[in-house]
Amino acid sequence: MELQCKIQTYDWGRYGIDSTVATLVKSANSEFTLDEKRPYAELWMGTHPNGPSYMKDLDMTLEQYIKENSNFLGKDVKKIFGEHLPFLFKVLSVNKALSIQAHPNKEKAKELHQQYPTIYKDANYKPELAIALTPFEVLCGFRPVREIKEFLKVLPELRVVIGEDKVLKFMATDEATTNRALKTCFHSLMTCDAGLIELQLRKLLDRLSNSDESLRQSLHASLLERLHIDYPADVGCFGIYFFNYVTMQPGEAIYLGPNEPHAYLSGDCIECMACSDNVVRAGLTSKLKDVPTLMEMLTYNCEPISAKRFQPTREDDCTELFRPPVLDFAVAKITIPPGRSSYNIIPRSTASILIIINGKGEISSSKVLYRGSVIFIPGNEKIGIKVLCGCHPMLMFQAFVNV
Ligand SMILES: [Zn+2]
Repeated sequence: MELQCKIQTYDWGRYGIDSTVATLVKSANSEFTLDEKRPYAELWMGTHPNGPSYMKDLDMTLEQYIKENSNFLGKDVKKIFGEHLPFLFKVLSVNKALSIQAHPNKEKAKELHQQYPTIYKDANYKPELAIALTPFEVLCGFRPVREIKEFLKVLPELRVVIGEDKVLKFMATDEATTNRALKTCFHSLMTCDAGLIELQLRKLLDRLSNSDESLRQSLHASLLERLHIDYPADVGCFGIYFFNYVTMQPGEAIYLGPNEPHAYLSGDCIECMACSDNVVRAGLTSKLKDVPTLMEMLTYNCEPISAKRFQPTREDDCTELFRPPVLDFAVAKITIPPGRSSYNIIPRSTASILIIINGKGEISSSKVLYRGSVIFIPGNEKIGIKVLCGCHPMLMFQAFVNV
């Protein structure tokens, strides 16, 4: 069953044909008009009320279709999640940074939704998995303490906004006391007077513009300049000295559990998450910053980026499986190499959504799927793909429930 999926045109999205989201939708829907002046940020595949998918050949939403055919979900899904698809599957095309954010755990999400239903619109947690499609820049988790301390030594501008006394205390910490002191420093940064932030950022940018290349590189000058152009005077610009900064290569993945600070900066990725839109923001955004909530909920674990990278397991010669430690979702990356004419997709016991990223194929000897086609597959369904254009690898991602 082919799906018609919702595009979100958030202002941080890539424009026109630079957006993978736009070119995917264009390729699979000849009637879609691509507007070069619009940002195409996200493609939503699933049943979330803020952007529900529709059945292409039926006059109904995927949500309704699942309600009427709930056995398609698979019996374990029904038992655990009721008659709902528990995940939201996305493609993201990021032109400029998304906010520095974290997502609440289940308990906190319930509480936030109850207290502030207009801000936190659902009561669910939102663990998320991102798999790069193009080089994908992210900030993710607190850096190892040693790195943060190194930056503080050479950044008087950052020390001023945090407060020298707090910085000194943090510098003197050992392993047992670090987390608390880091929390104090970060809190102090995030609640610093906006005028002082603006002034110190300006000072730092001026200093870096007159510095030699090696200092510029060690202080991520060009990244700072880029963020400052998009979010002038935003406290989040200083975030690059607290959070791990990495460019993921296509196929590499990170998993973000609840309360992990992160920001996507640029590039395209596949993303899967529990069906929720609960975001607690703290910087690099013009939207509401809920600093107190974020401060309280963040994990202040300082780890290198390698700890956040998420490794797949190989299921067969075409399929790698990303299986995070939650029941809500798992993602399979299916690559059919050039020259191979067919492949039988590994049947899943739960409903799934599959998107073609590259290539063209025919499923079950009837329907032709193009780059950008999205299909809903009932649990336990056997799907064979006949490759119609075998000069490049055919690349697909399939999200299903991890039960
Ligand atoms: Zn997120």
